[in-house]
Amino acid sequence: MKIYPIEAGNFKLDGGAMFGVVPKVLWGQTNPADKNNKIEMACRCLLIEDGDRLILIDTGMGNKQSNKFFSHYDLWGNYSLEYSLLANGFHKNDITDVFLTHLHFDHCGGAIYKDSKQMLKPSFKNAVFWVHKKHWEWAKNPNIRERASFLKENIFPIEESGQLKFIDDEGPLILNSSFPFSILLVNGHTDKQMIPLIEYQGKRIAYVADLIPTVGHLPIPYIMGYDTRPLITLEEKKTFLEDAFKKETLLFFEHDPRHELISIKQTEKGIRMKENYSFDSYFSK
Ligand SMILES: [Zn+2]
Repeated sequence: MKIYPIEAGNFKLDGGAMFGVVPKVLWGQTNPADKNNKIEMACRCLLIEDGDRLILIDTGMGNKQSNKFFSHYDLWGNYSLEYSLLANGFHKNDITDVFLTHLHFDHCGGAIYKDSKQMLKPSFKNAVFWVHKKHWEWAKNPNIRERASFLKENIFPIEESGQLKFIDDEGPLILNSSFPFSILLVNGHTDKQMIPLIEYQGKRIAYVADLIPTVGHLPIPYIMGYDTRPLITLEEKKTFLEDAFKKETLLFFEHDPRHELISIKQTEKGIRMKENYSFDSYFSK
């Protein structure tokens, strides 16, 4: 098995929304805000090459929306999903599986593109798209709070493509799944977000997605204002981090532009970052 981090493009979000009840004087130390109070975010996917399968975890937000839409998200940097795949020697048509942690647009938007006739098509024509069944139902009939994150143009074309497959095991931990990793189901950020737990070169890696979006979110009460069930997130983070520390788990961040892979340590205040690594220098290819 080989793993490649895949940068799909950076954006910015309101710092206050990203940290909920935490005051700016505290979150501003780890995630400095710009003049519009926004903080920098990455969309970092993970590509797993396992035998003849090529599994992409999340896709970033893609590029099919209007300039007006993207102007709300202050895109920055030069990354794109397609280019990052090519830079690692892969073409989008090589992808056999797209695993979507959840269906918020910054995680699944890259799965669907608009062709020259303005038709919405799967970006990965040879791939199966994996979504948790209960999350799919949740996203198709979104609550008012999450409606701006679940976009019809990302969700329905996946179903229409005939390439959608469901994971319907109940968690919290799904072992022996159809993937070369196990899956932790968490329900605080949204219903049935899937967190991949991967054994690789003798280490355990957690793809923490929106359970812990950045290193600044390691303290237990530092929870996004976007989360639908913050008290559940609180419990889930606590349980996850204690277990991760016990099992010497490395955390791989999807959204932190300055931290790709970290080790963690126990401190008086709780679990915090120990070392910050580049994935490719930590693991030999
Ligand atoms: Zn999300």
